[in-house]
Amino acid sequence: EEAQALYAAAHPKSRAVHEAALGSLPGGNTRTGIFFDPFPIAWARGEGATLWDEDGHRVTDFLGEATAGIYGHSNPAIRAAVEAQLDRGWNFGGHTRMEGELAALLTARFPGLERVRLCNSGSEANTFAVQTARVVTGRPAVLGFAGCYHGGFLTFTAKENPLNVPFETVVAPYNNIEASRALIDQHAGRLACVIVEPMIGGGGCIPADPEFLAMLRERTTHHGIVLIFDEVMTSRLSPGGMQQKLGITPDLTSLGKYIGGGFTAGAFGGRADLMEGYDPRHAVPLQHSGTYNNNVFTLAAGITGLGQVYTPEAALALNARGDALRERLNARCRAAGVAMQVTGIGSMLSFHMVREPIRTPVQAAQGNPALRQLLCLDMLARGIYMMPKRAFMALSLPLSDADFDLLDSGLQDFIEARRSL
Ligand code: PLP
Repeated sequence: EEAQALYAAAHPKSRAVHEAALGSLPGGNTRTGIFFDPFPIAWARGEGATLWDEDGHRVTDFLGEATAGIYGHSNPAIRAAVEAQLDRGWNFGGHTRMEGELAALLTARFPGLERVRLCNSGSEANTFAVQTARVVTGRPAVLGFAGCYHGGFLTFTAKENPLNVPFETVVAPYNNIEASRALIDQHAGRLACVIVEPMIGGGGCIPADPEFLAMLRERTTHHGIVLIFDEVMTSRLSPGGMQQKLGITPDLTSLGKYIGGGFTAGAFGGRADLMEGYDPRHAVPLQHSGTYNNNVFTLAAGITGLGQVYTPEAALALNARGDALRERLNARCRAAGVAMQVTGIGSMLSFHMVREPIRTPVQAAQGNPALRQLLCLDMLARGIYMMPKRAFMALSLPLSDADFDLLDSGLQDFIEARRSL
């Protein structure tokens, strides 16, 4: 409470922005995942790895737009591509050379992606991937894992089925091979697909065990069920995503976030035979229309981002830096003997106030959420922005070693100040 009061006192203009929006937006915001009490920060400007808020505070951005912001703010090459597109115009109501170019960059990179369709968000990508599986298999049900997030309308929580989805769902426990195998076998005749995050991202950076994913691959192949990897976040973790890193190829993949150069983006695709129904020359084509599926700013930014900035070499380097940072932060937690650890792979990291190794969302939930929020507020006061409440970080390319030092020393101070963790 004390930290919240300090936060509120330091951000009067953010409070005013929030209060002004309350009259038109429920809760004064339009993104549930990053809202926090008493009000969220209103950001005004970004450059490289730096953000400025409406109150004039300058912070280092470790949230990186929850993986979409991998290029940092105002990357010069992407900016130039978008400015060139501004000169050429937009809203053509038709096809351009660019959608094929972005699609080719994606299919060259992700082993499971023989054919791909572009859309506007990760949520859309998952919706279409699931729909593709249901149409192609002619089966109704979808198996997902408790704690996996697949977008605003397809999320599997521990106890409930997803809200509002117009199909039957089966919810299985993440990283539990025996129980998940049994559920797949039990429902096989009704299952169109199994959808999984190869590492739970926003839910706490919890990697799937390779044996767990291998089991999913084996059982789904056995039963003719479509295996969908939601790589909306994890596609950044190697040049070809987790599917390449682990050598396990799904039937369909959903993508989003950074693939549009930081602009609105999503994509879904996979085996050519599963995707062929989207060929409009097909006798009964699958419908996938969308005014902005090929919006030219996303295409220009995405082609430059993937082709020139987040190259395979850049992906390897950023993830190696992320692994080293995680190890450094964990060494500090271990040395202090506190109930705290950083999970994740490569450039995605998440703090948990838990001592035991974390393999499941249930274990992650055992941490103290108030303490984690305190960490976020404490870090913010030191000029470090991570995902409010969740202490989730997605590293961006412009973050420097000095920024990592700042995070590490901030953590040291936090631990010193709260020895009783
Ligand atoms: N899938 C995963 C794994 C995500 O992390 C997200 C967003 O955080 C989504 C899907 C939804 O993507 P979008 O926010 O672009 O709709």
